[in-house]
Amino acid sequence: MPDDDPIRKPSPAAGGWGALRSVSRELLRSGKPVEGAKTLLTLNQSDGFDCPGCAWGDPEHGSSFEFCENGVKAVAWEATSARAGPEFFAAHTLSQLREWSDHDLEKQGRLTHPLRYDPASDRYEPIAWEDAFTQIAEALRALESPDQAEFYTSGRASNEAAFLYQLFVRLYGTNNFPDCSHMCHEASGVALTEAIGTGKGTVRLEDFERCDLIYCVGQNPGTNHPRMLKSLRDCVARGAQVCVFNTLKEKGLDRFSDPQNKLEMMRGGSEPTSTHYFRPRLGGDMAVFRGMSKCVLEAEDRAQAQGLPPVLDHAFIEAHTAGFSDWCAMVRATPWAQIEAQSGLSRAQIEAAATLYLRADRVITTWAMGITQHLHSVQTIREIASFMFLKGNIGREGAGLCPVRGHSNVQGDRTVGINEKAPAALLDALEAELGVPMPRTPGHNVAEAIGAMLAGEARAFIALGGNFARAVPDTPLIAQGFAKLDLTVSIATKLNTSHLLPGKVSFVLPCLGRTEIDRNTSGKRQLITVEDSMSMVHGSAGINLPASEHLRSEVRIIAGIAQAVLGNAVVDWTALSEDNDRIRDMIARVLPNFGDFNADVRRPRGFWLRNPAACREWHTPSQRANFALCDLREATEWQQIQGLENTFVLQTIRSHDQYNTTVYGMDDRYRGVFGARNVVFIHPDDIVGSDFAAGDLVDLIGCFDDGIHRECRGFHLVPYDIPLGCLAGYFPELNALVPHQIVGEGSFTPVSKSVIVRLRAHQG
Ligand code: SF4
Repeated sequence: MPDDDPIRKPSPAAGGWGALRSVSRELLRSGKPVEGAKTLLTLNQSDGFDCPGCAWGDPEHGSSFEFCENGVKAVAWEATSARAGPEFFAAHTLSQLREWSDHDLEKQGRLTHPLRYDPASDRYEPIAWEDAFTQIAEALRALESPDQAEFYTSGRASNEAAFLYQLFVRLYGTNNFPDCSHMCHEASGVALTEAIGTGKGTVRLEDFERCDLIYCVGQNPGTNHPRMLKSLRDCVARGAQVCVFNTLKEKGLDRFSDPQNKLEMMRGGSEPTSTHYFRPRLGGDMAVFRGMSKCVLEAEDRAQAQGLPPVLDHAFIEAHTAGFSDWCAMVRATPWAQIEAQSGLSRAQIEAAATLYLRADRVITTWAMGITQHLHSVQTIREIASFMFLKGNIGREGAGLCPVRGHSNVQGDRTVGINEKAPAALLDALEAELGVPMPRTPGHNVAEAIGAMLAGEARAFIALGGNFARAVPDTPLIAQGFAKLDLTVSIATKLNTSHLLPGKVSFVLPCLGRTEIDRNTSGKRQLITVEDSMSMVHGSAGINLPASEHLRSEVRIIAGIAQAVLGNAVVDWTALSEDNDRIRDMIARVLPNFGDFNADVRRPRGFWLRNPAACREWHTPSQRANFALCDLREATEWQQIQGLENTFVLQTIRSHDQYNTTVYGMDDRYRGVFGARNVVFIHPDDIVGSDFAAGDLVDLIGCFDDGIHRECRGFHLVPYDIPLGCLAGYFPELNALVPHQIVGEGSFTPVSKSVIVRLRAHQG
């Protein structure tokens, strides 16, 4: 390990003084500590702006400080005084900038001017907005087919921007909508649609105050949804059970010190956020829930045999579900040996976790990427839903299914039409609204867009936010895909790696951030809206002056491109983008579920977008909630590596100083890593078993046999509390090891949580 050993004692608990130190550091680093602090007072407040971080909900009656440490990082990172203006781009070629780290690129600050790439000088140069729109339109119209263009969406895009984007893209003639959901919760959407008829969670924030038990599965809220820690802690404090299934021992799922609790802070105290903590192997969660279902059915058998009241909610099962008896037969036939081998937990441990379910009346199960980024994620989520049906834990108070989304509006974007396989009802409604046909051929998701780029079939890539080239698998290959493009356009707030992979013609268009005021030409302050993981739609309006007078809102930029490409014959883009209220009126006409959108969203905390499954209405082909007949896998990746030397199953994760591909800093204080990202977490016995020592520098070699050599060099081995045979390391650095062709069955999501790799002593 280098002299300044990055491995140090982790924080004793999540939150606490460490969070306050981090918050003050971020505000100071933004260069505007006073304005930054003022900005935070309107963060996640009814008349303020929505956090550009995760999609955790806002409490009905929240505090004046309704934010977490990572929310502050997201806001301070956006509201920085640093600027990446024309002089910066004049001083640096793209070839030079490609050597910079993700962190150093974004640290340059906010983009200030629309930019066009000049291949001759290998630099970005300022360009006038109208010229940019005209040249983008020429390039798009020059394509042989609209299907040669990929239109990517990051989950930060507002409902209004996303709706206008899908309107433009469909009128342009394609359904190619690769979006960030394809890399995160797509499996949740697919599985829940199959199981309960809607691709969203059924739980509301208040349900966390009324449940008896929470299963928190494959999720690290301490870093990715920090305000959830308060809900977990409050649950434990009032005697409810919180049972965690996570391969890694995560600090936030152990103890939380509430920075807003003065007494606790004074005494340096903290409270537990869980009551039970189990550590399945990577890819073992489906077997865990299969095992728990087996326990519940065995308990039902015992109750029947002893003439005791039933354990199962037979009324719910009979009235609301389909496939129960076949499912029971499959569960009963699943051998415990297979369950233990795949889960990595003993029968006794699974029985203990199931006993919590038997004792509880109202149960919530939450999950995130630890569940959704595997080959069998859809089947695993179906297994969770089936387990929850046994006692009717859905569609009633204090109970339900809760995929916790990582991006503030990833759910909203899908709701308003960012969907490569759009439901016919949406396309029919758009045709009725616009009087012109919509493209009906399903378009590309992320995996398909990557395939089209690598094959040279895609000729244009337009990104509404995000950092696609760093977020997706097979990083070196993707760079080659970008090089084949005729056109790349990025709508962004800050410079990132994807912008340094220009097509023959390339533009970077700087947009307003969430914290900034957006006024239309008549001076009216514009409101945008987002939808969180609990289906709450709420408004957001920035309070800070824009970082540059040249910035435009995402809505106006999309309207500018659309008008240049399509003209105003079908849609008057200028008029529509002049006032977001008009866009919301159109959304409400096309998606009636939005009701009186403009009025409802101006209510404090907005409104709940009705979720039929939360009301026990099942929009499935069977008109019922469906038990899932999914066999356990023959062998998980962990089972496949048994007996192979120095071979492991790797999961890519975020550090605590990171949000998606945005790296705010080099520390991961909850895991005891400081000032470094080239680390791999590994069980101490596996270090010894591989003839390495803690801190040794190793290379990771991808084991997927497709003729492509994948390796990441120079990572330090960090002893960590993780199951044998499993590794963890940060993305996007380790995305180069993830094969882009291996995607979740039904979800097409990269299998970033179960990548087979081999360790080799570092070759300098
Ligand atoms: S929990 Fe998520 S939404 Fe809330 S402040 Fe933190 S990052 Fe933002």
